[in-house]
Amino acid sequence: MDESPYWNPRHETMPREGTLALQVRKLRNLVEWADAQVPWQAKRLRNAGVTADSIHALDDLRRIPLMTRDEWMEGQLEEPPYGTNVAAPKDAAIRYHMTSGTTGKTPIRVLDGMKDWEWIAEMWCYGLWGFGVRPVDTVFVAFGYSTFIGFWGLHYACEKIGCLTLPGGALTTDQRVKQIVDMGATVVCSTPTYALRMAQEAKTLGIDLARSSVQRLILSGEPAGSIPATKKLIESEWGAKAGDTAGMTELGTIMIFECAKQPGGTHIIEDNYIEEVLDHDSGEPLPYGEMGERVVTSFGRGFIPVLRYRTRDFVVKVPGSTCTCGRTWDIYDGGIRGRVDDMKLVRGTNVYPRAVEAIIREHPEIDEFQIHLYTAEGRRDEIEVLVEVSDAKADAAEILAALERELADTHEGLRFGVKQAEAGSLPRFELKAKRLLDDRIVIGTEGERRTQA
Ligand SMILES: [Zn+2]
Repeated sequence: MDESPYWNPRHETMPREGTLALQVRKLRNLVEWADAQVPWQAKRLRNAGVTADSIHALDDLRRIPLMTRDEWMEGQLEEPPYGTNVAAPKDAAIRYHMTSGTTGKTPIRVLDGMKDWEWIAEMWCYGLWGFGVRPVDTVFVAFGYSTFIGFWGLHYACEKIGCLTLPGGALTTDQRVKQIVDMGATVVCSTPTYALRMAQEAKTLGIDLARSSVQRLILSGEPAGSIPATKKLIESEWGAKAGDTAGMTELGTIMIFECAKQPGGTHIIEDNYIEEVLDHDSGEPLPYGEMGERVVTSFGRGFIPVLRYRTRDFVVKVPGSTCTCGRTWDIYDGGIRGRVDDMKLVRGTNVYPRAVEAIIREHPEIDEFQIHLYTAEGRRDEIEVLVEVSDAKADAAEILAALERELADTHEGLRFGVKQAEAGSLPRFELKAKRLLDDRIVIGTEGERRTQA
């Protein structure tokens, strides 16, 4: 018998009406549970006139108030440390997680119970199985196991599938590369940035990864897994297929994954989430094909009701039928397109780090880069891009000139100063790469201050 390409064949190929009816049923249960277990949620729902009994169709979702990260943080201040949106006593928890807190902001603190944990692994199973991971695989997880959620759920999903799972925590990059090769790993899991970092390290060690046993990379943690040029570069360096996924600490797991057919986007796990795309300013729903903000409602959490949570991620939704895999689940074309907070305005032109990366990665000779915004004389905003060109055979001057031209062409003629950085001088990242530095001076009521990158 042929093996199914789906982790959950019935749900993944269910006709659209079936999926939508399932979502309505689950939404009703979620509202009932939040109302009964979380006084803070009960108050918000009641104020909006929402009760479980009043949920009859998916349109009723729109009566539920949107929730922001700021509200989550206010809740944590009100009832430290876990906040007001908690549906179970602390004793019921088996795990604690927090956001990586790279920007110096207070992290979101999340508890997981048994139910959460089972579900977190199950969501990763959809993604891993859907990209072709099977019990025969040996999976290396290049991740520093800590209180940051990252690949924790993936680790347990690999065990659930029956893979031989190698936890690659507390190792240096060269130790990781050697272990991948020595153990004959067939699947490697990391951020897109770190996949490239390991490929560089392998070259230094004289290892040709394209000839290794690795067949698949599972990428997560950064939007770059769906930037075509970055994906292509990763796939050629490793001689393997790279599949994108994305998750959030608030959910504890992934909500989207790329299937083995690689349609240029990620399927939404629609039997466990409702994903809306709204206009960021007006909050109005947007049709297929238009870019807007992701708003997530999750059905699997046992500790926190996640109801219409504004993610500040930009996405473009298209129907599942645009992929040939047979899944009926909608797709985020191009994965996560970026974050609301990432967008920078430079002399009247919008600059998205993702768009800059897409251009830079067309030049595989570039190892690492950094985007730097600063205030020049005359209070003029300037943008420069520092690049490391490590390939000694490459003509660095030519690459820099080409890059400068391509960046200006795609940004309404905005001049980017492209400069070469010394090899190895720019920061390297294992988790969430931070390649944009905003040192511009802004004038405020309390005088000058530096902007927050
Ligand atoms: Zn597909």
